[in-house]
Amino acid sequence: MDYQDIAADLESVLITEDEIHAKIAELARRIETDYAGEKLLLVGVLKGAVMVMADLARELHLPIEMDWMAVSSYGSGTQSSGVVRILKDLDSDLHGRKVLIVEDIIDSGLTLSWLRGNLESRGAESVEICALLRKPDAAKVIVDVKYEGFQIPNAFVVGYGLDYAEKYRNFRDIGVLAPHVYA
Ligand code: 5GP
Ligand code: MG
Ligand code: MG
Repeated sequence: MDYQDIAADLESVLITEDEIHAKIAELARRIETDYAGEKLLLVGVLKGAVMVMADLARELHLPIEMDWMAVSSYGSGTQSSGVVRILKDLDSDLHGRKVLIVEDIIDSGLTLSWLRGNLESRGAESVEICALLRKPDAAKVIVDVKYEGFQIPNAFVVGYGLDYAEKYRNFRDIGVLAPHVYA
């Protein structure tokens, strides 16, 4: 599959690479102001958040540390259940740390709401969330997202780290997957 074939699998492009980078710069300016003089720990959620993390971290003019977690949400089919299993845990001790969770997308909100509680219970001084995308119509729990990029409709999107069956993560824009791909 070459790069042109990826574009052919999309119904539409929702957010372009340029729009993503402008938004990340905007979020970075707010984060710099809020955490001036602090030692911030960015926690990325694998694998979807790798692109957001790479761009946000380089855009931040702050000394940061970076750590990663991988989690899986059990549930029927594609729905997340809120029952979360840690596949890869953090290397860092969170006691007294200011933590910013970096996520690609909030759908039902179940994964992040669990994750925030989990990190808070490890003694972090504060735990906030930065998510590039959120689907307000899909929310099952309210998650307080301090730094939010774009609100999008309740459709399945890929690109910029987001996959369908591990594909499309390297597509530079964010787009809605065409129905023929599922068939
Ligand atoms: P939640 O627990 O909020 O329902 O699930 C969030 C996770 O589900 C995201 O981190 C992401 O991995 C996956 N997800 C939710 N919506 C989408 C989507 O539209 N596209 C892709 N590729 N993944 C999604
Ligand atoms: Mg994710
Ligand atoms: Mg995925």
